[in-house]
Amino acid sequence: MSLVNIDAAEVPVREARLGSITGFEGTAGELVRCARAGSLKDSTRSFSQCMGCSSINAFCQLSMIQDAIVINHAPVGCAGDFFTFNFVYRVGQMERKLPPVIGRYFNTNIEEQDTIFGATKKLEQTIRAAYDRVRPNAIFITTSCASGIIGDDVEGVASDLSTELGIPVVACFCEGFKSKIWTTGFDSAYHSIVRKIVKPPRKKSNKVNIVNFWGSHVFDELLKRLGYEANYIIPFSTIAQLVYISEAAATIQICPTLGTYIGAALEQVYGVPEIKSPPAYGVAGTDIWMRELGRVLGREQEIELIINEEHKRVLPQLDEYREKLRGKTAYLTAGAAHGHALIAVLRELGLEVQGAAIFHHDPIYDNGDTASDALAHSVNTYGDVSNYNVCSKQAYELVNILNKVRPDIMIARHGGMTLWGAKLGIPTLLIGDEQFGFGYQGVLNYAERIVETLDNKEFVTNLAKHSTMPYTKWWLEQNPFSFLRGDVDDKVY
Ligand code: SF4
Repeated sequence: MSLVNIDAAEVPVREARLGSITGFEGTAGELVRCARAGSLKDSTRSFSQCMGCSSINAFCQLSMIQDAIVINHAPVGCAGDFFTFNFVYRVGQMERKLPPVIGRYFNTNIEEQDTIFGATKKLEQTIRAAYDRVRPNAIFITTSCASGIIGDDVEGVASDLSTELGIPVVACFCEGFKSKIWTTGFDSAYHSIVRKIVKPPRKKSNKVNIVNFWGSHVFDELLKRLGYEANYIIPFSTIAQLVYISEAAATIQICPTLGTYIGAALEQVYGVPEIKSPPAYGVAGTDIWMRELGRVLGREQEIELIINEEHKRVLPQLDEYREKLRGKTAYLTAGAAHGHALIAVLRELGLEVQGAAIFHHDPIYDNGDTASDALAHSVNTYGDVSNYNVCSKQAYELVNILNKVRPDIMIARHGGMTLWGAKLGIPTLLIGDEQFGFGYQGVLNYAERIVETLDNKEFVTNLAKHSTMPYTKWWLEQNPFSFLRGDVDDKVY
């Protein structure tokens, strides 16, 4: 179990802190058993097609704080993600009826000569220029491979400029080369917030922190009924809102892959209890999660009433969907904890899950509590899942497996993965809203979309007829895990 240390400038990467991995093939049950026995080892690929970067994940959380700016201390190429999040930010503003503003993101443009002479002066100039232009309430500096390798004193600059400008100027260490697990960047962003923005509580509030991306706010009604108020963090928060998240009555994780660090940090440093049950996906999982929420908030009786009402409402509809989906098979690709949650949803609907390509695996979360293990919950509640692959988004493995298992439907959480199902003529469902599948209603939401997708196969059938694959017949005939096991020499290519 990692203990949060807010005196340290950096949070250790997930490999070191949690023992997280990016390579595994086997069954979900085997993975859970290895993780529990402390015998989980990363398998290394002799060929890797792609990799994510922690800096992007840090940016995805910091870039949508309404009154902060982000300075990416990096070569300009590292700022390629600005466009994506500016787009998400604008769409989210419209949905929340916020004033339309573009994201305030800056890059220091580290160049070759800076790697010799250092780039701290450039960083200082950028901070001053950006401050004069925007007058933000906080400035976050995200680091890069280049700034990390040349050893720029970013923490020192942040500290000096904080004093000079009179606002928090906060270093967020998220160099891509340090971790193969890009979700480490979430931890870096949260560490910088807990360290330099959040203040000790003055009193307890009736707010409940919801650690989320930018989904559909499904917690408002439930928490209101329990006498609490949802506080969605971090995207679309203001700095003032973040200062006293330490006063909240509890922290809810929409996905512990996202919020493992901030949930544990708020509990360990400020005593805000984290709801440690796996997130509420599937009816069985939602029952457990609701009872844990009721216990932490002191609302056990009210929760039992809600569970009763919801069972009466949802279970008959669920039976109808199960009948429609009887005998159907699914394959899933998603980030870690969200993928585990979706396995529960699919199994709840009676689909046979033929396998999953999940981007990494955390054997434990920062709270150190095995009760938070959503994959163990899925396996224990619904049975094992074969063809379970921890794949760090390696599309070549995914395509090979999909071509062999040929499920009735592929479920994806990330846009870049859906085309592979479609190219093979497999109906593919992408749900970007991380809150869409949450709770009792979430099972019905997924059921409806899956039935719709299965009823509309014409598009992918035609697409497959006119598509070409970049992968050769040779590769499609190999074992999908050949490069993970070292069976195939990469010189074959
Ligand atoms: S920080 Fe490193 S890994 Fe990330 S985008 Fe820049 S160069 Fe690539």
